[in-house]
Amino acid sequence: MVEVALKCSCGQVEGIAHDISPQTGLRLVCHCDDCQAFAKYLNREDAILDRCGGTDVFQTTPSQIEITQGKDQLRCVRLKPKGLFRWYTDCCKTPVANTINASLPFSGIVHNFMDDKGQRDNNLGPVRFSVMGKFAKSDVPLPKGSHAKFPLSIIMNIFARMIKNKILGRHKPSPFFGNDGAPVCEPIIHNKG
Ligand SMILES: [Zn+2]
Ligand SMILES: [Zn+2]
Repeated sequence: MVEVALKCSCGQVEGIAHDISPQTGLRLVCHCDDCQAFAKYLNREDAILDRCGGTDVFQTTPSQIEITQGKDQLRCVRLKPKGLFRWYTDCCKTPVANTINASLPFSGIVHNFMDDKGQRDNNLGPVRFSVMGKFAKSDVPLPKGSHAKFPLSIIMNIFARMIKNKILGRHKPSPFFGNDGAPVCEPIIHNKG
């Protein structure tokens, strides 16, 4: 397992992802309209999305993520009132991670925030799943084995990891939610329209 440095594009926000290996998380690429809308909201589609409109995310737990500098730059947006809490930095609009709520041990760290260029495949393993391909940019062929939707088998895989991590108490401490369960900053509701 390795420690992976976390850093926003301008360097004001830094942190560490602890105990990272291909087994301690799940790397996937999501092409869904919400992930694309998040990139658009940040106005950084070119930096965030791949050629097919996918976002490369490493799903791990909040307790493995430590923000060491620039916590005051963290912001949160929800694309619908009950949508994911999508975290980013105010300074340079770097996507940080997607979370569900305070009680679930789930944080999908967006690739831009991981300062592991060149080592990413070694640290995280290859992309395990490519999902929601029905929203992909149609002029570019999707990678082999891509799924049009989010297959139940992959949802069950993610769910099983969450149950195990919940038992291990890895939903906290969280850089995104206080011990009372409240988000560290008030989420902005942004209807993607
Ligand atoms: Zn920044
Ligand atoms: Zn998505």
